[in-house]
Amino acid sequence: MPKTLVPDFVFDGFSDITVEFLQKQNIRALLCDVDNTLSPYEDAEPSDAVRAWMETMQAGGIALALVSNNHADRVETYNKNLGLVAFSDAGKPSRKCYLRAMDALGVKKEECAVLGDQLLTDCWSARRLGIPAYIVPPIRDKRDLFHRFKRAVEIPFMKAYKHKEKKKHAK
Ligand SMILES: [Mg+2]
Repeated sequence: MPKTLVPDFVFDGFSDITVEFLQKQNIRALLCDVDNTLSPYEDAEPSDAVRAWMETMQAGGIALALVSNNHADRVETYNKNLGLVAFSDAGKPSRKCYLRAMDALGVKKEECAVLGDQLLTDCWSARRLGIPAYIVPPIRDKRDLFHRFKRAVEIPFMKAYKHKEKKKHAK
């Protein structure tokens, strides 16, 4: 099995990612997916928890950007009061918008990590960029056939991650 889509870290949720953790990994910028990573599809605006987490990140010197495959109206509404560097219709796993985000934030690739909930888009982008992929379980997944298929594809990679972690902790 290709190891390409095995995440570098899996968190229970975005808020488990701390400034201290990122500093230890030498990460200065987090390029964040929106839907199901920060908020469910139905939430037009970020929750208080998202805002609080973002403020903590930024206060700790972590730059944030939004990189979403969703459309402009969704991302613009979501970002209205955040004012982050944000890209919609990013076409992930394309690298294009991530590179533009890095440019806009003034950070080097080596200082960035991708945060997302999907291996086939978020994690794959990170792999293509050669940067770490931080993955969270989807907040509220769609249950249509397409999404179920995508999640089924992820299973072996998530298993490989768990196996890798177990080995690491057994050492
Ligand atoms: Mg997502």
